[in-house]
Amino acid sequence: MSSDEARPTRGLMLMVVAPSGVGKTSLTRRLVADHSDLHLSISATTRAPRPGEHDGRDYHFVDRPTFDAMVERGEFLEWAEVYGNRYGSPKIPIMEALSKGQSTLFDIDFQGAMKICGQARQDCVLVYILPPSLAEMHRRLHARSQDSEEVIRERIARAKEEVSNWKTFDYVVMNDDFDRAYAELAHIYHAERRKASRNLWIEPLVEDLLAEAIPEAGEG
Ligand code: 5GP
Repeated sequence: MSSDEARPTRGLMLMVVAPSGVGKTSLTRRLVADHSDLHLSISATTRAPRPGEHDGRDYHFVDRPTFDAMVERGEFLEWAEVYGNRYGSPKIPIMEALSKGQSTLFDIDFQGAMKICGQARQDCVLVYILPPSLAEMHRRLHARSQDSEEVIRERIARAKEEVSNWKTFDYVVMNDDFDRAYAELAHIYHAERRKASRNLWIEPLVEDLLAEAIPEAGEG
């Protein structure tokens, strides 16, 4: 589904928030791969690339002065410091996408999602991905062996705080089964794209319908 001249639509900003180690990356990458009208917002960050990460694909990797200059110029929709590094979502590509009927998926933290949605709630869809349990989250974070035990404990404490805010979200999806969680996420996206307020072609069509003369009996 995409915006075309005959059926103009407004895109949406899909915020997918989850604690680390819940499988969010696999879910969101697949959703983007399966939908040509959905693009991932590539954040800028001051953190160093991890093995296998590419500049411009995973993040725009920039140094601190460059990041701060971007903040000064107002180039971010929001930015935040997370675990000692700065992250920001570039504004221009997202605004352009919305008006062209294209959607943007944000893989950002809870605070970032709240900041963006606080400014543009009608364009936002907030989804939280729940881990089946904190024990399972702990196990996955260990298996990934990217973080020290201290960082893992910090991530779990943060997850507990976030989970308690679940009512702020439009949807909550539990990822205990990848295929089911993916199907739920895809259904949410499809339904939100169909929302009347985003389908800008409806209003003129309805106006035409209302202005239409009803044929006299025996005509046409
Ligand atoms: P990581 O360094 O593991 O890739 O990301 C650390 C955290 O920063 C994650 O929770 C990620 O979602 C968040 N993050 C990534 N990009 C942005 C952004 O543009 N803004 C905000 N607020 N958080 C971000």
